[in-house]
Amino acid sequence: MFIHSCSSCEKRQLIFPSQVEGVAGTDSTLSFSFTCWCGAPQTHETGRADVRPVAVAG
Ligand SMILES: [Zn+2]
Repeated sequence: MFIHSCSSCEKRQLIFPSQVEGVAGTDSTLSFSFTCWCGAPQTHETGRADVRPVAVAG
């Protein structure tokens, strides 16, 4: 769940995981594709630093 500023309706909307249609990523970023509440297709990029790292026990 994240907040996205839509490029179509220009509103800041809360996007739920159920809206996300696809996830793409590189080593440093994640890109979510979804449909805004207004119906416009959107993508949202976030840094992986935003994702809480998982501690790996040695
Ligand atoms: Zn929108």
